[in-house]
Amino acid sequence: MNAAGSRSEAAQTPAALIYVVEDDPAISKLVVAALHEFGFATEAFRNGASVLRRLQTERPELCIVDLGLPDMDGIELVRQIAAVSTSGVLILTGRGHTVDRVMGLELGADDYMVKPFEPRELVARVRSILRRRAGGGGSAPGQQRRHARFLGWSLDCAANILRAADGSEHLLGTAETQVLRAFVERPFQILTREQLVGQRDLSPLDRSIDVRISRLRRKLESDPQNPKIIKTVYGAGYMFSAAVTWS
Ligand code: CA
Repeated sequence: MNAAGSRSEAAQTPAALIYVVEDDPAISKLVVAALHEFGFATEAFRNGASVLRRLQTERPELCIVDLGLPDMDGIELVRQIAAVSTSGVLILTGRGHTVDRVMGLELGADDYMVKPFEPRELVARVRSILRRRAGGGGSAPGQQRRHARFLGWSLDCAANILRAADGSEHLLGTAETQVLRAFVERPFQILTREQLVGQRDLSPLDRSIDVRISRLRRKLESDPQNPKIIKTVYGAGYMFSAAVTWS
């Protein structure tokens, strides 16, 4: 690896904090060293429980997650990270199973890499995820992302106002706005009830999310009993099925 050639680039990049969740010490060391070389700050974790604990008090820009962890399935960890934080996720997988990749991306991971990988390639992917998220093209809530437009509707995320194509306005409650915002930030993705309320370990008996969804459907859907925009994905969650543009 040509370290000298990358120094000037590294100096321009602010030290973003990256979590490395990997139980293999050799791979973890390799990833951490590559990230340090390119100016990133890192914290390394050997299992899922420790990273979830840390996420309660700290906000990394990105989590790099190995799918084969000793204490929990990596896919489950990706799902939980998406539910409790706004961090980006890059999956590392030694399995190479298509189902894992597809599932990981559907659950909110930004990208994945199959082992073995080139450390420089990993750093390039990390940078590209961070650029996408900072640029507002990704799922990061950022500046210049106040108005979400879909199917003639417009959601003003700052004022909690939903405008119809005919100009009529609905003032949404904070909880309703939170759910609709989660949807418009990740259209065409299955979102769990936990992701929609931004809470982990949601009780299966907690019906608050269902109440919010049916309120939104009554406003948005022409036939709320047969929804076309906020679809139920049985056993998994909900999916927002409309293209969204932001301004
Ligand atoms: Ca592993």
